[in-house]
Amino acid sequence: MDALVKFSLDELEKYVENMGEKKFRAKQLFSWIYSKSVSNFDLMSDINKDFREKLKNCAVILDTKIKKKQVSSDGTIKYLIEFSDGNCAECVLMRFDNRSNLSACVSSQVGCYMGCDFCATAKRGFVRNLEPYEILSQILTIQQDTGLKITNVVFMGQGEPLNNYDNVCEAIERINKYLNIGIRRITISTCGIAPKIKQLCEMELVPTLAISLHCADSNTRRQIMPVENKYNLDELKKSLIYYCDKTGKRVTLEYVLIGGLTDTKEMAQKLCDYINDLKCNINLIPYNPIGVDKYKKPTKKDIMIFKYLLESQGKKVTVRLERGADIDAACGQLAGKI
Ligand code: SF4
Repeated sequence: MDALVKFSLDELEKYVENMGEKKFRAKQLFSWIYSKSVSNFDLMSDINKDFREKLKNCAVILDTKIKKKQVSSDGTIKYLIEFSDGNCAECVLMRFDNRSNLSACVSSQVGCYMGCDFCATAKRGFVRNLEPYEILSQILTIQQDTGLKITNVVFMGQGEPLNNYDNVCEAIERINKYLNIGIRRITISTCGIAPKIKQLCEMELVPTLAISLHCADSNTRRQIMPVENKYNLDELKKSLIYYCDKTGKRVTLEYVLIGGLTDTKEMAQKLCDYINDLKCNINLIPYNPIGVDKYKKPTKKDIMIFKYLLESQGKKVTVRLERGADIDAACGQLAGKI
């Protein structure tokens, strides 16, 4: 069976022509798949029955399955998606009571080889890159299952997106074009692959950038994020300044507050010094335990002190709302658990 989500519009036009149909059928199919997010051919009411029957014999819309679905008490939904080769990765629907945004957090790889010490995905190692259509399939699955229209996409699920650069860039182009999601509403979150951050600036449409910084002290960062050995804080900063200059955008710095390690006053000052000449927002993420764990959750008091110290030096800071912690869908907890 051919999964239609694999095809670009041009490819789908050729596909329907090979089936003896007119080219315009491809546009109709595209609209049902991407604008209306239907999950079966029978719902495509402006396509004649004969063609729908022909399609049913040789094609499917998506070749992925929902292996597991968990709904959190805060409305977050985590899906475990099974790809056609049997590998699985998660995607998450996040909604916020006071906002109309519906964000899909998608995976870019099955597993990850960056080895961040606090991350559940790192514990399972790297399996493979996801294809562009497999990234799109995650968003379409959420839309088909909920009947809702995704407005924002964040590459914050399993994997380091910039280690799957070409596929992620193609997926971004398709998300923008086919799902009509503005480039400002598409965010790549990276642990800091400096040369690829610079390369991103050459894209026709440059996505928003979030950096998993997590620590502004090189020695401590090296302990929790091996990427620091290859692209250290200085090199990362040069790439971020380049991104801000080239695009005129700010970057978001994600900072995990680990009790007693990254949440101290000294670390807050190091962070202030590091970002002094950078256009950025800081998103503090209180650490979520991932089972047997050597790291601690920060106390509420330490979170507030850390935030206060940054704000008192004029920095823009938010503390990330913990979404879906009861279903392991919070930051660093996506690990293909079944
Ligand atoms: S935090 Fe991101 S980059 Fe680091 S190991 Fe986990 S998935 Fe990979």
